This record gives sequence, structure tokens and C-alpha cells, in this order.
Amino acid sequence: MIPPRSRRHTTYPLLLLLALALAWFLSSPVRAADSRPNFIVVFADDLGYGDLSCFGQPNIKTPNLDRMAAEGQKWTNFYVAACVCTPSRAGLLTGRYPIRSGMCSDTRRVLFPDSAGGLPESEITIASALKELGYRTAAIGKWHLGHLPQFLPTSHGFESYFGIPYSNDMNREIRDVSQQELAEEENWEAYNVPLMRNEEIVERPADQRTITKRYTEEALKKIHEFKGEPFFIYLAHNLPHIPLFRSEKFKDTSMGGIYGDVVSEIDWSVGQIMESLKKEGLAENTLVVFTSDNGPWLLFKTHGGSAGLLRDGKGSTWEGGMREPTVMWWPGKLKSGIVQDMGSTLDLLPTFVALAGGKLPDDRTYDGYDISPALFGTGSSPRDTMFYYHGEQLFAVRKGPYKAHYLTKTSYVGQKEAEVHQPPLLFQLGHDPSEKYDVASEHPEILAEIAEIAEAHKASIEPVENQLEKRIVEKK
Ligand code: MG
Repeated sequence: MIPPRSRRHTTYPLLLLLALALAWFLSSPVRAADSRPNFIVVFADDLGYGDLSCFGQPNIKTPNLDRMAAEGQKWTNFYVAACVCTPSRAGLLTGRYPIRSGMCSDTRRVLFPDSAGGLPESEITIASALKELGYRTAAIGKWHLGHLPQFLPTSHGFESYFGIPYSNDMNREIRDVSQQELAEEENWEAYNVPLMRNEEIVERPADQRTITKRYTEEALKKIHEFKGEPFFIYLAHNLPHIPLFRSEKFKDTSMGGIYGDVVSEIDWSVGQIMESLKKEGLAENTLVVFTSDNGPWLLFKTHGGSAGLLRDGKGSTWEGGMREPTVMWWPGKLKSGIVQDMGSTLDLLPTFVALAGGKLPDDRTYDGYDISPALFGTGSSPRDTMFYYHGEQLFAVRKGPYKAHYLTKTSYVGQKEAEVHQPPLLFQLGHDPSEKYDVASEHPEILAEIAEIAEAHKASIEPVENQLEKRIVEKK
């Protein structure tokens, strides 16, 4: 018979092992969940392809974005889903061309304060998809997907919202002077835009002179609050959309004038986010994407930005309207360098969901791809085509390096009707990024191939209710 004392000796290590095994078993799903990456999307408004120093701007310094590009990836063929605010945002958040959600229109190209429509409840946003997977979520900044309660971020998967629900030039109360003159910051009160926290208006007019600073502080607060859980933060700046505002510290600091000051403050904001991620020990586990919603608003001359070597700007389907300066950062994870593959804001949802370990629902058509191979350097981006919409009409299609224009309309004032091209214009964007030299007559076979792709895409569009044409009816 074993004496009780020595039996205790053999049982205790066994029990300890069992307890350790159980603890490991119980904790492993939690540890797996915690290792999933965080996502931060910083979305500038109307920033052009040529507005960052790492994209060739000689007069505006953007040291933080330049560092982000040097340590991470600079995407030179990255597109938005539309050439104006509302549909571009709908495309980013849903991974679907806005024509599929009713979020584009030929007559009213964006939502206004009198709009009654918004992003339909049936749409799945990046936030709602990630929230379902256990992510914390926050929206900060410009929304522009419907300002009525049922369309706000808090109805679309975001736990919280802090921002101006549409463009910063709306609710203009002074009408007898031009918007060009009102673009000056001394007139900030002329724009009676609301600042909201969740569904409540907390300030009106929003003091836009400190808006970039306040959005940044909110983002840092959320990073700190969410630390320890996987999270998605969508920070959509209202600037550098006109009217232009910057805080005291950035006044008259840039060679690029007030526009340069505003971009410098956004660059500072990006630097704060990178610093904060490092400080919280989250940098190696967070993918940060910086891009813009559409090209520069050229109508506003020195108050609008520059598309650099790309043709035209905001509101047009020339490259300057839809190709955006895009930088991605994830220290130790991304294969750093210049990425010339095609990518789009449409790809963010499928990529994030895949990296978070989820699956896309199969009840709808997605226009985005999981671009992880290009992120990690294990392969190319699966994107080989891009469709360029102007409102509800398909104006152009890119396949590989070739882009065919069926219709064109400049963003400048003066051209009332779109110009129809028959045969279409064809540009080889690799050789001719500025779309100067039409090569249609040399490549009828490429035009035929692109026409087929365009037809197949059009056939995949199902009619839905248009959200941008609905207006709030005032009761008399
Ligand atoms: Mg915009």
C-alpha cells in the first residue's frame, strides 16, 4: 500500500498539468481572437493624386505619409468606386459599386441636407461585417451616406459616431457671395453644418477650424479604448474639401498656401495615429490605409488640390477623378515598396473580412477582391478591371493597362452634356498615364474585349430604388 504522503506527491504534478492544459484550452480561442488584425481607414476628402510629397507634390510637406509609404506600401493604381463623395463612400463601405445600392444618381450626384435617402439597411458595411466577427467599431468624420437616424453610422455597424454627417460646404447660409469667396476660413459660420455625437447634434455650426484636430483626438481615444480587442476605425476627414480650415498651429506654415496648411494638418493627424499605435503596442497588429474619396475639386483653383500628372479631377471619370494617392502601413507585415497592381476601395471589405477570419455572404454580388497577396508580397492583386461610373452611367472601363472611354465629361464648368465616343477612346495607361494619346485605331481587338467585359458587368446590375433623388418633404 502506498503511504498517503507519497500518493499526494504523484497526484499533485498530474493535477497541475491538467489544470495547465485546461487553462491553455480555454484561453486559446481568446488568444486567437486577439491576434486578429485591427484596421484603420483614413479617408481624405477631395485630396488629389498629386497632393502628397510622396506622390510628387513639390510644395506641400507630408513627412508622416511619406514615412508610412517608405515603411509600408505606396499604391499607384488605386481607385475609388466613384468620382464624387456619396457614391465613393458607399463603394468603400459595402465593397459594391454604388449602382447596386441605389447610392448614385445622374441628377443629384450626392446627398444633401434635404435628402431623405441614405445607405439602405440591407447593405452590409465593413463595420457591420467586422462587428459580427467580434470587432469594436468607430466612425469619425464625414459620413455622407444619409443624415437621418436610420442611415447614420450607428445604424450601419458602428458602435459610435463623431462627425459632420455630410460635406463641410453644405447648409450655406450666405448666398449673395460666391462659394469661392466663402471658401475663406474667416467665413466659417456661413456653413451651418452640424457636428454629431452618435445620433445627437452637439455643435452647430461646427467649428471647422479645429475639426481635423478634434477628429484626431477622437481617433486616439478610440485606439486606447479598443486596445486588447480587435477593432476597425473609419476616420473620414472633412478636409481638404472646400471651405478650407486648419488649426492655429498650421496657419501659414506651408509653401502650398492654405491648401498646403490643411494637407499638412491631415499629415500630422496620420503621424499621431502611427505614434499612438506604437505607444499602445498595436503597430505590428494594425493595417492602416490612407486614401481619398475622389480627385481634386479643380473648380476652386488654388483652394482645390492637384491630380499631378493625371487628367482632370473630381466629378470626372478621367484618371484624375478616380485614381487616388494611397498608402498602406502595417510594420513587419506588408511587403514594403511601390505597388503598381490595381487596387480599389472596393477591395477593402473583402480583404478585411478575410484577414479577420470571416467569409463574405453569398446572397449578393461583390465588386471587391481580397488583395492580401499584394499586401504580403505572395502574389499579385487579383483586380484586373475597373468600372468608371458617372452617376448611374458607365463612362469608362479599364482592363489591364488599357482604358476605354465610352463617354467623357470634364469636371470643369462649361460642358453641359457628356461627349459620346464612337468608336470609344482607348488609352494605354502604362505608357500614357495622362490619357493624351488615343490608340483605339491600333487595337480594335482590345476594344472588343473591353466591350464584352462592359456588357457582362451591366448585365449583373439589378435595378434598385434610387436613394439620392429622395427629398424630405416639408410640412406646411
Ligand atoms: Mg469628396
